Amino acid sequence: AALSRVKEVDLKGGWKRGSPVPYAALATAFSLIESTTKRLEKTAILTAFLLLVIQRSGEGDRDSLLQTVYLCINRLCPDYIGMELGLGESLLIKAIGQSTGRPLATVKAELKKEGDLGLVALNSKNTQRTLFKPKALTLPFVFSSLKDIASTTGHSSQAKKVSVITKLLSACEDLEAKYLIRSLEGKLRIGNAERSVLVSLAHAAVLSEHERNSNKWSSDRLVKKLDLASNTLKSVYSELPSYDLVIPALLAHGVGNLKTHCKLTPSVPLKPMLAKPTKAIGEVLDRFEGKRFTCEYKYDGERAQVHRHEAAVSIFSRNSEDMSKKYPDLVLQLPRCIKESTESFVLDAEAVAIDRTTGKLLPFQELSRRKRKDVRAEDVQVKVCLFAFDLLYLNGEPLLQKSLRERRDLLTSHFTPVDGEFQFAKSSDGETMDEIQVFLEDSVKDGCEGLMVKMLESEDSWYEPSRRSINWLKLKKDYLAGVGDSLDLVVIGAFYGKGKRTSVYGAFLLAIYDSSNEEYQSICKIGTGFSEEELQSHYAELHPFETTKPRGDVKIGGAKADVWFEPKVVWEVLAADLSLSPIYTAAQGLVDERGISLRFPRFVRIRDDKGTDDATGPEQVAEMYEKQALAQQGKSKGKSGE
Ligand code: ATP
Repeated sequence: AALSRVKEVDLKGGWKRGSPVPYAALATAFSLIESTTKRLEKTAILTAFLLLVIQRSGEGDRDSLLQTVYLCINRLCPDYIGMELGLGESLLIKAIGQSTGRPLATVKAELKKEGDLGLVALNSKNTQRTLFKPKALTLPFVFSSLKDIASTTGHSSQAKKVSVITKLLSACEDLEAKYLIRSLEGKLRIGNAERSVLVSLAHAAVLSEHERNSNKWSSDRLVKKLDLASNTLKSVYSELPSYDLVIPALLAHGVGNLKTHCKLTPSVPLKPMLAKPTKAIGEVLDRFEGKRFTCEYKYDGERAQVHRHEAAVSIFSRNSEDMSKKYPDLVLQLPRCIKESTESFVLDAEAVAIDRTTGKLLPFQELSRRKRKDVRAEDVQVKVCLFAFDLLYLNGEPLLQKSLRERRDLLTSHFTPVDGEFQFAKSSDGETMDEIQVFLEDSVKDGCEGLMVKMLESEDSWYEPSRRSINWLKLKKDYLAGVGDSLDLVVIGAFYGKGKRTSVYGAFLLAIYDSSNEEYQSICKIGTGFSEEELQSHYAELHPFETTKPRGDVKIGGAKADVWFEPKVVWEVLAADLSLSPIYTAAQGLVDERGISLRFPRFVRIRDDKGTDDATGPEQVAEMYEKQALAQQGKSKGKSGE
């Protein structure tokens, strides 16, 4: 059924085998996906479209599928290369104005009405009279133009970008303008998250094999193959998150053989494994009952994934950003702790600020004083010690599917601690309530945030890239005081300050991010606890992202603000508790028709190691709310003596 709908993208036979994918075909597919709210239908439409791309590609053509997939997830290259779109509203308004001849004030007024710059571009094109038909845009041309735009920096880069966009827009027809502008903005808003794109890609690869087979598979067999393929592709991609490497292998060897050709590779960062929050030691014991587990200090620094490939060392952030230029001192320190037998490796570690004279660990705030880029090792003031807690790859072999005990043994036997520079995360395998309590107190005394508790043996302890796993639990000192887990929230709006503070924002509106629906959902207003200095620096950071209206993918509900922002900045926030709210939209429909809000939210820090996609999601908020409700029930039962 999806295939027959997708026939529309055929553009009346205008898309020939071996010729470049027409950009209009992609725009039509996006529009079909956007027009349905049903997840399965969205996936089916994209599958059918990707199948067409594979079938229409010429012999040996890898780029058509690769570039199509990149445009579907709105990226241009693997994360760690750091080339991003996400252009500001004012620049795009200028380009729309210039290419369609509409006055900027008209474009702005329409944006205020529509709340979607993509639609404004489409309307602007529709009202424009053209004397001659422009040459049709092709997907490779749009892709390379987007790359040019993203990589233009320096003197007069804004003007250069506007000029490239203006030319592209002039060549756009119909829907193309809408999706081009949304791609440039950095959010497609068709409700197809990357996970669904991976499923479609796997299905399209299987279906293309099926179509080529002279002996067709039975429908039962085909369904099994489709399921297996999407699991294989998801797992391969979590080990090797680079479409540049995975797609050519997929086309050359098929999904069935992908695991032998695509494995964790040093210099390609994988998405780190994450932990679930717990509120009490009792909860840890319940979860791990009868299993072997280990506690490690939870260091208060920045996650660092250290790769060594042919003697070159690179350090990646939690978000796969290359931080080697931020930590040249770590890169220099590292050879001192590597044993001779250790050639290539991937370490999972935390970089922590340290006072080298006293050996004391310093809080994250100290680490955040370091410059982010182009630091010279000799200029570094805030010294850093690396605390290694996992080894994911060693001398040519991925270790993800070894137990934590084995990985830890390999870690300690292939590296040597150096005081103040490199240490193994402190651990204790004590499993009683008392032992854990003492270790937790020690961790706090030693300047850590609390403990990480991890499964130690068997499959339960395998490393699960990109998953927030129940096999890793975090036990933070803050939770024990009853404050609850912290949330990572996106700043979507602000209120001007009062009295002396009218030139800065005095309070802010925050949101969570729902990655399945690609939307931001408002969760609370936060306005207390900021120092004057903090307010000044928040203003400086956020002011450039001001927009006329909340963006179309921001669900504000009944929340209000004086100004709105492009969703860019992520803050870590603590709250006293969660409550149901008729105003905010966070996690609406998950535990109640109403949304969930935070009571007494408190700003902890800016999380510039997290992108807005990494912000807390609705399932996590619902889970926290339900846990809190359970704990409250428990308390009232206790009080009534039940
Ligand atoms: P948080 O705000 O708590 O750091 P997070 O979302 O970044 O949350 P979590 O999975 O919740 O990540 O907590 C794990 C984080 O704790 C890791 O990302 C890492 O930076 C840090 N960490 C410190 N010590 C350890 C350790 N021994 N093992 C694993 N992670 C550790």
